[in-house]
Amino acid sequence: MYYDRFAKLCEMNNVKPGQVSKGTGVSTATLTSWKQGKYTPKQDKLQKIADFFNVSIDFLMEKDDFVSCPNCHYVYSPFSDTDIEAHAEFHKKYEKAVSVYGHIPAEETVVKARESFINEFRDTTKTNPERIVAYESFLDYDFLLDVINSGYSLTLDRGKHDYREISTLRITYRTPEELVNAIRKAHGLTPIEDGYYESPEIIEWVQDTFDDPDMHFLHKMKLKMTPERFKKHLEFMEDSYKLENPDDDIGC
Ligand SMILES: [Zn+2]
Repeated sequence: MYYDRFAKLCEMNNVKPGQVSKGTGVSTATLTSWKQGKYTPKQDKLQKIADFFNVSIDFLMEKDDFVSCPNCHYVYSPFSDTDIEAHAEFHKKYEKAVSVYGHIPAEETVVKARESFINEFRDTTKTNPERIVAYESFLDYDFLLDVINSGYSLTLDRGKHDYREISTLRITYRTPEELVNAIRKAHGLTPIEDGYYESPEIIEWVQDTFDDPDMHFLHKMKLKMTPERFKKHLEFMEDSYKLENPDDDIGC
């Protein structure tokens, strides 16, 4: 049973049963008996074969008709011509994107790496140079996630992405001025120069209300700033918002 699936996988991946045997440790004798219908490999061997082809064991055991492309990660049925065509189309976009942006790992990998680097960046027990290195890696993965979420658009601008992220760094993560400015300098951006976020009162307030909406934050900021400074601050927030939401004219 299931040998047809095995044969289909060999065909799709352009490999010979002998190569599968080498890659999985399942003997060629086993594969031959399987082909002749004398024997069906046991679960553990089927799992090795499924892993070799990067498919689920359910696919190999004919319980599921879908596979995921190991490169572009498009999920499709290799038994449906429409699906095969849709995948080929998507795969072309993926390959073009790789030629523009470089290697693009699976979404799951990108999400995990992005999360882990931003947590490292926010870890105040780390030194500033360590946090900066982590932040630069965060930018790499955050951009890759934009590329994936856009369906491999070729027109994403890395410079704009970085500017948008760095502009909101202060507000989003309440990052100390010194650290923000070191990152801004590395990206050729002018330093920002207010010290309000570092006052003990603000730090305490931020800790108490970390999840509060930005308007609460702004209200507190207003009490701490001259009207001119507050106006500049609002403009800065509006600019950041517009960069992130180019089609939305409501502002923040
Ligand atoms: Zn693909």
